[in-house]
Amino acid sequence: MTKHDIIIIGGGLGGLLTATFLAKEGMKVCLLEKDKQLGGCLQTFSLQKKVFDSCVHYIGGLGEGHTLNTIFKYVGIMDKLSLKEFDHNSFDRIAFGKEAIEYPQAIGKQNFIEQLLPYFPKEKEALKKYIDTITLVGDHFPLYRLRNGSADEKSAVTGWSLTDTINSITDNPKLQQVLTGNNLLYAGEADKTPFFLHALVMESYIHSAHKIVPGSSQISKFLWNELQAHGAEVHRSMEVKKLVEENGELSYAQTADGERFYGKHFIANIHPEVLLSMLDSKQIRPAYRNRIKGLDQTISTFMLNLVLKPGTIPMRRHNLYWNASENSWDAVNYKPQDWPANYAAFFTEDEQNPGFAESLSILSYMHFEEVAKWHDTENYTAHKEDRGEDYHAFKEQRSETLLAKVTERIPELQGNVTAHSAATPLTYRDYTATPKGSLYGILKDINKPTETTIATRTRIPNLLLTGQNVNLHGVLGVSITAIATSAELLGMDYLLNKIKA
Ligand SMILES: Cc1cc2nc3c(=O)[nH]c(=O)nc-3n(C[C@H](O)[C@H](O)[C@H](O)COP(=O)(O)OP(=O)(O)OC[C@H]3O[C@@H](n4cnc5c(N)ncnc54)[C@H](O)[C@@H]3O)c2cc1C
Repeated sequence: MTKHDIIIIGGGLGGLLTATFLAKEGMKVCLLEKDKQLGGCLQTFSLQKKVFDSCVHYIGGLGEGHTLNTIFKYVGIMDKLSLKEFDHNSFDRIAFGKEAIEYPQAIGKQNFIEQLLPYFPKEKEALKKYIDTITLVGDHFPLYRLRNGSADEKSAVTGWSLTDTINSITDNPKLQQVLTGNNLLYAGEADKTPFFLHALVMESYIHSAHKIVPGSSQISKFLWNELQAHGAEVHRSMEVKKLVEENGELSYAQTADGERFYGKHFIANIHPEVLLSMLDSKQIRPAYRNRIKGLDQTISTFMLNLVLKPGTIPMRRHNLYWNASENSWDAVNYKPQDWPANYAAFFTEDEQNPGFAESLSILSYMHFEEVAKWHDTENYTAHKEDRGEDYHAFKEQRSETLLAKVTERIPELQGNVTAHSAATPLTYRDYTATPKGSLYGILKDINKPTETTIATRTRIPNLLLTGQNVNLHGVLGVSITAIATSAELLGMDYLLNKIKA
């Protein structure tokens, strides 16, 4: 019987990065991933030979000198990634209803202010205050600056509400909306979302915004190479079903086909609710189980992917965030008859026709309840199942509705789509095993700070957690959490010194 130092359950970014930190220290690491493709949300797929991202369309903080750049350099993948930078004067543009203006959010803190100023000439002080405030909040999160700090630093700012803080920065309702109009980035909810979530995400994109071409799976591919170079075992199509405890500690992970993987330590890169369903331990109290089960999840999404006729759709070097309502917070509470209530459009350039897009991916909020009647079907690469004709008809109908809405703003789309595919909350649920296909996992709620904060440690001494449900989602957030998780075994100062060396 082989006993590994570390068994990692789930090969998303969180699992892969934690595995790499530990394998680099000579630990015997074994990673178990249920899908055929590693990466979880970093997976890509192709349609008419065009590569599409299943989730991650752009990444903040990969620029020289920023935190994610330093982390990715340390794990040996930074220089291998093929990156495209977004337009410095607008990585995102924010639009509302039928208003023609698309408000820019720019790279560079001073530039961010300057690009918005023409639209809000009286708001210079407010814009400056906004930038100062997100910087201040970022400074309160030591790991975002790659330093070891105390929990007290964070707690000084974690109680701030996003809407209250923005409203205190400016009383201009339009500017309030423009600053938060891409809240799909963190699936924000008015009166629930903490300001720090917004600040950490926005600060990273304002620092730098990149797209990985031809796809975010480059991250998982290169991390996998690193793992192999450090002697780690990586098993795909290996779904963990049970974690078995002996003498107060986890002993082995048992997979769907009955294989057992023994380890000294276990790290779960999966949603805590899914983890608890695998654990039959008296150390996990019923109150904790109920708390985790009772938590709200962030909303899910419908994604439409389009292959475009060459040379027809001008390339945009920014993403477009559109909100049906003047109040972008309404979108999360949309009624099915009013769908779509928002969308984010992500363009990929055609290398053969520079200046034109080869494909477009469009994301719009969707409640799981809209697809709940097919909930007992399961379909992902390692487990194929047809969900049936009525499901396909639903997807087609929603694809047409969404395309028609986007065509209102990008009329060149009319007649220039050569192929399309769509993903629903069920797709996300099945590919990442996230309850209800939630975009970013557990919803952070300032009214329930303790309940919605998940720790890396558990009551089982040799079980740690990592991934987007602990701390923060997104490539940056999950990478920071991977440091926090690995530091439980390596020591924080030790690991940070190595990363920064
Ligand atoms: C639609 C969408 C768009 C996004 N866009 C962006 C973006 O543009 N930029 C950005 O920075 N972030 C984006 N994000 C967020 C980001 O992708 C995630 O926060 C991050 O990738 C999550 O990583 P993770 O490792 O925590 O989880 P996941 O990527 O979900 O990985 C979990 C892994 O565990 C595996 N697993 C689950 N159960 C088991 C089991 N029983 N046994 C074995 N393996 C199991 C899953 O198959 C999966 O591979 C987006 C997310 C979504 C859903």
